[in-house]
Amino acid sequence: MRVTIENVSKRFETTPVLREVSIAIEERELFFLLGPSGCGKTTLLRLIAGFYDADAGEVRFGERRMNGVPPHRRNTGMVFQNYALWPHMKVWENVAYGLDIRKVRGAARRQRVDEALEIVRMGGYRDRSPNQLSGGQQQRVALARALVIKPDVLLLDEPLSNLDAQLRLEMREEIRRIHEETRITTIYVTHDQDEALSLADRIAVMREGRIEQIGAPRTLYRHPANRFVADFIGECNWLEGEIAAVDSGRARVRTAAGELLADTPEVTGVGARVWLGFRPEAGTLLGAPDEHTLPATVERVTYLGRVEQYRLRIGPIDGIKVLQTNPSQHHAPGESVALQLPPGDLILLPRG
Ligand code: ATP
Repeated sequence: MRVTIENVSKRFETTPVLREVSIAIEERELFFLLGPSGCGKTTLLRLIAGFYDADAGEVRFGERRMNGVPPHRRNTGMVFQNYALWPHMKVWENVAYGLDIRKVRGAARRQRVDEALEIVRMGGYRDRSPNQLSGGQQQRVALARALVIKPDVLLLDEPLSNLDAQLRLEMREEIRRIHEETRITTIYVTHDQDEALSLADRIAVMREGRIEQIGAPRTLYRHPANRFVADFIGECNWLEGEIAAVDSGRARVRTAAGELLADTPEVTGVGARVWLGFRPEAGTLLGAPDEHTLPATVERVTYLGRVEQYRLRIGPIDGIKVLQTNPSQHHAPGESVALQLPPGDLILLPRG
């Protein structure tokens, strides 16, 4: 089911929580709403579920306008952070509940509950009570309960936040597998960028009720639309720069420490003030400079086996983070190095 959100705004009393949000979620997509606490992502999910009404704008499932349609008429399945299972019902009954209120009975009811429990691999736990299950198992049951009704849209609100780190990784894989098996249009709310990057077909990054950027994980990480997206989706170093020259899609950027070549999708005019950004893993420490290096001084080194974390000073800026994977050459604090930054790994954004 295609889900279209068009110019949706929502206030709670006088506080605007969603401001003219527009998103087109494709059929079968695993779509993420990502942003810091309070940015409005849960409000948007609840609005799609029908728990809230929009003050302005439209929500459509396929061609059908959903404004004013109550939650139980939307055929959505929802999974919450706290599982929200019925404690007095067995696993099987918890999953069957959604079918009971839809008056699905007899063999069809049995078959669908069994199928849903199989999808989440909980067939062997059907007669347990929720309090006899681990957090991960409870969340699987909550997923089965959402899937059993064969929803048009599956809505997941921070489904992994209550689980410990190891289980969270396992359940990520599970959610991906279940989505691949069922291909239900899924909208997933999280503030965890790793979760979003590792699972999403596309992500909408939100801030203060607005969409900052919508794109595939690779697009957001490598071509963020602004500094907020760049910093929220991962770590990024920033240097002040100015465009010194532009030649066939490549800009020569002047910084306080020297010049660098940067690939730039939109060619920026000579003299424009820019932020020059790069991810810690984009840089390589060399002993000698070349045309893609800036001079830097090592401030601090942390050896972690797999990687070595450097803090560098570049011109007037200190605390620049660089990661060296599989480190074979060590550079000590105080040492002068050449930091190599490939043109394709640089992020150029306008600086006001
Ligand atoms: P979190 O990750 O912390 O859940 P979120 O991005 O999901 O954050 P929302 O829960 O959508 O954010 O809340 C957005 C804003 O709306 C917050 O400032 C919150 O305090 C406010 N808010 C949410 N629900 C209500 C409500 N029922 N009444 C009044 N204000 C609300």
